[in-house]
Amino acid sequence: MTEPVFTAAELAEVKAYHAPRYTFEAVDSLLWPIVLVLVVRFLTGPLYRVAVRLTSRWRSALLDRVWKGKGWGPTTVFALLLFAIFSLVTLPTDIWFGFVREHQYGLSTTSPWVFALDSFKAHLFTAVAVLALAFGLFGLARRLTHWWWVMGLVATVVMSVSAALDPYRSRLYIEQQPLPDGPLRARILALTKQAKVEVADVLVDETLSRTVRLQAYFAGTGPTRTIVLNDALLKNLSEDEILAAVAHESGHVHESRWPARVMSAVSLFAFLGLVEWLFRRSAKRGWFGISERADIRTLPLILLVFDLSMTAAGPLSGLVSRRREWAADRYAMTLTRNPESFSSMLVKAARVNKMDPEPPRWLVLKGMSHPPIGERIEFARRFQTR
Ligand SMILES: [Zn+2]
Repeated sequence: MTEPVFTAAELAEVKAYHAPRYTFEAVDSLLWPIVLVLVVRFLTGPLYRVAVRLTSRWRSALLDRVWKGKGWGPTTVFALLLFAIFSLVTLPTDIWFGFVREHQYGLSTTSPWVFALDSFKAHLFTAVAVLALAFGLFGLARRLTHWWWVMGLVATVVMSVSAALDPYRSRLYIEQQPLPDGPLRARILALTKQAKVEVADVLVDETLSRTVRLQAYFAGTGPTRTIVLNDALLKNLSEDEILAAVAHESGHVHESRWPARVMSAVSLFAFLGLVEWLFRRSAKRGWFGISERADIRTLPLILLVFDLSMTAAGPLSGLVSRRREWAADRYAMTLTRNPESFSSMLVKAARVNKMDPEPPRWLVLKGMSHPPIGERIEFARRFQTR
């Protein structure tokens, strides 16, 4: 009989930690579409009038020319106001789950100041993205009827370039150092070589000043690919367990990316085509006082459609993702021929990160990206006895 992952007391604590999250997840997935419907129905008109009033004195001959008209002011301000409202609505739960409870359960080590600064940075980047998207997408759509083909191509290219830039993005938040030369680094590089995975560097994220959680991931692609481990992982795991984690990530590198790429490109184009349909429909029917295609007042409706499609796609994309995790686990244990260390790595990660070994079934089916850690540990223990 294999020993359980958690003692009864630990399990009770883990369950207590997760219970409100599950409730929130359930309520949120039902409530969010309702909030969006209310925004579409009652807020779109008034918010647009506020945006028009706020920007009534804005003048720029250059932007008028780029935009082909004077609508750029209300368009961008409407999008930003909407973003501000959503941020305010989610702020209390962001602080409660992201800070208060993380501290109560000893998972977060962040000071309120760093937490505030991190969320400010994240909101600032998103605001800039919202601004660029509102101006760029709606501006392009005003000029070109076939904007959505152009946008789809640009987005596809941006997504693949952005994967290559991943290693640089995390540095906006977290200090990174190369893993110093030594036996661990040598073993990691030997393992990735054996796995035929090209690696530019092995880096250590200094996250202990924020969280006690263990993390390991590969960032970038091809020549920019780096292995990123965090200091918590180095502190808690043995060398063999660290290699088990790296082997799992190497398994992901070998996944065939084409089905996912084709699927995401197809869904992207389908979604943008739907947006164009909404543009025309709203102009024809005069929804929210719209008289022309590509009016920003369709944005809340677009967000509602997006939310519903993501919820609908969740079960399938979760299933695909969980299958990949199983395959990566199997790959790792075959590569290292050390399922014992793989299983003890999972156990340690589960304990430190306070992962629920048995999350509710509905949550898994709704689209969890990873199989329940309890099942993964069970699988690794069975693998040993094969
Ligand atoms: Zn994985």
